[in-house]
Amino acid sequence: MPDLPGLPVPELLALDRRHVWHPYGPMPGRVDPLVVESASGVRLRTSSGDLVDGMSSWWSAIHGYNHPVLNEAAREQLGRMSHVMFGGLTHEPAVRLAKLLVDMSPKGLEHVFLADSGSVSVEVAVKMCLQYWRSLGRGGKQRLLTWRGGYHGDTWQPMSVCDPEGGMHELWSGVLPRQVFVDAPPAGYEEAYAEQLRAAIQRHADELAAVIVEPVVQGAGGMRFHSPAYLRVLREACDAHDVLLVFDEIATGFGRTGALFAAEHAAVTPDVMCVGKALTGGYLTMAATLCTPRVAEGISRGEVPVLAHGPTFMGNPLAASVACASIGLLLGQDWLAEVKRIEAGLREGLAPARELPGVQDVRVLGAIGVVQLDHEVDMRAATEAAVREGVWLRPFRDLVYTMPPYVTGDEDVARIARAVCAAAKEG
Ligand SMILES: *Cc1c(COP(=O)(O)O)cnc(C)c1O
Repeated sequence: MPDLPGLPVPELLALDRRHVWHPYGPMPGRVDPLVVESASGVRLRTSSGDLVDGMSSWWSAIHGYNHPVLNEAAREQLGRMSHVMFGGLTHEPAVRLAKLLVDMSPKGLEHVFLADSGSVSVEVAVKMCLQYWRSLGRGGKQRLLTWRGGYHGDTWQPMSVCDPEGGMHELWSGVLPRQVFVDAPPAGYEEAYAEQLRAAIQRHADELAAVIVEPVVQGAGGMRFHSPAYLRVLREACDAHDVLLVFDEIATGFGRTGALFAAEHAAVTPDVMCVGKALTGGYLTMAATLCTPRVAEGISRGEVPVLAHGPTFMGNPLAASVACASIGLLLGQDWLAEVKRIEAGLREGLAPARELPGVQDVRVLGAIGVVQLDHEVDMRAATEAAVREGVWLRPFRDLVYTMPPYVTGDEDVARIARAVCAAAKEG
């Protein structure tokens, strides 16, 4: 193993294992992570050599790494100020970002709460919805309805609407707020399922503050796709029964599914929408909760007319500046053509996986490619198979999947697809 500048790799890994928690990991760690020395374009320079990144660092690095425009935005902002508090103060990066988000998101979302992570933006969304009904004197409306197979983050309220079975939060089933769950959405439109959604919303209307779902693509809960028509069913049923509708676009936002936001596939505006992950092009942690004037005005009419939430690093100027630059990059190019190009490459490259033993399903939507196995992935074998192809993948449960940066060239898309197939075969 080549040593990296600074600590020799074995020493670094020993310290990592002893002291550092990793996502969803035990302490001390049992599997050595790869050490990343630097990243540029779509390549990670790691202790196992240069790898093409098939993960976009969990959906976020849509423009690739070390991008000159994003670097310059960060540098320029660093020269002014990296942070100031947001209580009683404001600044151009945050204001510009809010305006950009309002202009690009589904019509009707006009107010923006800047949060410091996706999970926090979901907490804020839930707080907005519960407080809205409380302000209107209907405090009994405090539960959430969602469909199974979802993922909304790891803090308390988000955990309560993640899939309660087989997910990462099963341990907490007796402790979390008890929400209303319906079956996971089928891939295609089925009237019987739409009827189930309507009936559940009607039955629980008196206790429901909101319906919260990931539109069109369920990410970390199982990488499932569903018909956008269900979003219209939800919108109509929510309107008919006085329930707010929240779309969690943290994974789907900024073009990933072939629409700027997945809500556009159904031409539906939610009352509240969360964005995160790709917001800063993968540079810094920031998310946002957007809402309509109806929600904001409702909250303002209450006994406590304010939204009592204010993270220390709210509106962070450095993150906001990079987010503005990242959105500028996205909208300044034919991003849809790039996503469609990657979609075509993944369709072609993943087709052979259908013939592999142990493969249950292969599906592609936008710049997302998924191979679902009929068994739990052998993580070590799958990861090693991908690394042998020169690609970084992070499978989970029964899924080997990719969502590459939009700047991934055709040859690298083909290489990623080969790696997914190899990982599905070996894992
Ligand atoms: C990743 C994700 C979250 C949580 O975001 P964090 O920034 O990890 O807290 C919430 N919802 C969805 C749909 C996500 O994909």
